[in-house]
Amino acid sequence: MVDIILLGGPGAGKGTQGELMQSWLPIPRVSSGDLFRDNLARETELGRKARGYMEKGELVPDEITIGMVASRIAQADCAKGVVFDGFPRTVGQAEALDRLLREMGRGVDVVLNIAVDAGVLLERLAGRWTCSRCGEIYHRLFSPEKVSGVCDKCGGELFQREDDNRATQERRILVYQEQTAPLEAYYRSKGLLVDIDGERPPAEVGAQIRQAVEAAL
Ligand code: AMP
Repeated sequence: MVDIILLGGPGAGKGTQGELMQSWLPIPRVSSGDLFRDNLARETELGRKARGYMEKGELVPDEITIGMVASRIAQADCAKGVVFDGFPRTVGQAEALDRLLREMGRGVDVVLNIAVDAGVLLERLAGRWTCSRCGEIYHRLFSPEKVSGVCDKCGGELFQREDDNRATQERRILVYQEQTAPLEAYYRSKGLLVDIDGERPPAEVGAQIRQAVEAAL
């Protein structure tokens, strides 16, 4: 059993790396952002509550977020562990996750702190395109698709996330610094934090991550 947290600002590469990990680690990636976007698309009550916060780049309140993640990790496929992507994002969420995992006889095993300078985050977010079908992520400059607007992997149509506009991007980075960055100290004091240089190319970041996870197992 292994429970891993991917920590890092918006655009740090959590989604990309979480996907890469799936090839060698047989546990699901649980992305709170993806869960919210799925609820938005299905126009659920939860999606309706989350929409305004997401559009502004603010965090959805803890009680809503924690409840959503708690029901996701109670599902059978999460019994052997989870790669958490984008959760927790506040100290309150981290404490709740500790409680939830403890009740399941588990605990956080390692926290991968994917460090990327704020200026680089902005540059990455500005060029980001996502596949509407399979979720693959592209960048206009750094990793463009072969045929404009079409996913290389599945042929799906690429789109820019609604929260990938300049004002929201800046807000999301600030919110990260104010509300999420304190988690670095929270997990460092528990001896769980491993620093990853997120400014290296994706494959190198992936190798650092694999080494850190294998060392923690
Ligand atoms: P992400 O895809 O992780 O960048 O998340 C997109 C948006 O969903 C964020 O800007 C928040 O509005 C919301 N969100 C995702 N995860 C969380 C979380 N753990 N706590 C609060 N809000 C979240």
